[in-house]
Amino acid sequence: MIPTSFEALPLAAPLHRVLRELNYETPSPIQAQAIPLLLEGRDLLGCAQTGTGKTASFALPILHALSEKPKQVRPKCCRTLVLAPTRELAGQVGKSFSTYGQHIRFKQTLIYGGVGANPQISAMRGGVDVLVATPGRLLDLIEQRAVDLSGVEFFVLDEVDRMLDMGFLRDVKRIVSLIPANRQSLFFSATLAPNIVELANSILRNPARVSIAPETTTAERIDQQVCFLDRENKKPLLEQLLRDQSQATSGKLTIVFSRTKHGANKLAKSLCAAGFPADAIHGNKSQAQREKALERFKKGLTPVLVATDVAARGVDVKDVGLVVNFDLPNEPEAYVHRIGRTGRAGAEGRAVSFCAEDERDFYGKSKK
Ligand code: AMP
Repeated sequence: MIPTSFEALPLAAPLHRVLRELNYETPSPIQAQAIPLLLEGRDLLGCAQTGTGKTASFALPILHALSEKPKQVRPKCCRTLVLAPTRELAGQVGKSFSTYGQHIRFKQTLIYGGVGANPQISAMRGGVDVLVATPGRLLDLIEQRAVDLSGVEFFVLDEVDRMLDMGFLRDVKRIVSLIPANRQSLFFSATLAPNIVELANSILRNPARVSIAPETTTAERIDQQVCFLDRENKKPLLEQLLRDQSQATSGKLTIVFSRTKHGANKLAKSLCAAGFPADAIHGNKSQAQREKALERFKKGLTPVLVATDVAARGVDVKDVGLVVNFDLPNEPEAYVHRIGRTGRAGAEGRAVSFCAEDERDFYGKSKK
């Protein structure tokens, strides 16, 4: 039976309490399907994009297990390992664990690249209940003998499609080989291409399958438009959209996707010059710069964020009312992820894609 309320789920009392405090009334479809299976100890293959509530669908049952069976963790070990493709997503997942687990006694830490390793090494010294990590830095610290995966009981791979796009397949396989076979594994991906299913089969044991949005289709509550136009008209049209947006829905935020880092910088500068406070985030910016830009964006100080695909991954910002594909993504999966930034958790959103003459081929692919 699929539960229609959180009360119907046999979660520990501190979790019910936090759900009430957060005003979460009904489980989202992925939560309703996945949580009972995970509480039974099943492995899970979840096909779901961001914005569906998938983080709570794994964080709640894991926190339940940690609170029901507290255990002394060995030095450098973790009971739960969550692998995420980018530091932004790792940060979001870590934050979700802190929020949902605020009435539970548990220790967690984050491991990701682009910042000094020493604080991460110290944080692992006494062991943690939950470790959220990106693959590259995690392997570095394992090689330095600062992290030991021999005590992992719960293993989550989040946004696997993106992890493979970023070239992490070998790292993921190596990490899997270091985790005990006797574990519960959860595998989430927005798409299930054959190479992803193959990897899932090598990791999961008799998994339950939960699929939320059909593969490569976009969320229904997002109003999607495509504008066919000449390249030189992209900027004036973007400015027009931003003007309309600020008049129609004051306070709403906009993410503009650019294909290149250089393009993102240039566009943010020209928007600022035209009177639209904008910032750019992409892989060439330092962790501190990205965090600062995200903070300013969330607060509405710079209500326009120009981003490349990788940088915007996992950015969970409420109140993103408009997503503009300034350049069309050249793969349909990226399109799903990009416009998944808007219309999150039941909110309405609008996505506008600019398609110049030389991008018509990409449009054909994104539509499929
Ligand atoms: P996620 O797909 O995990 O990134 O979650 C998307 C957003 O939905 C986050 O901001 C969550 O806080 C929110 N959320 C998750 N589950 C629920 C729920 N059952 N009711 C209301 N909001 C939720």
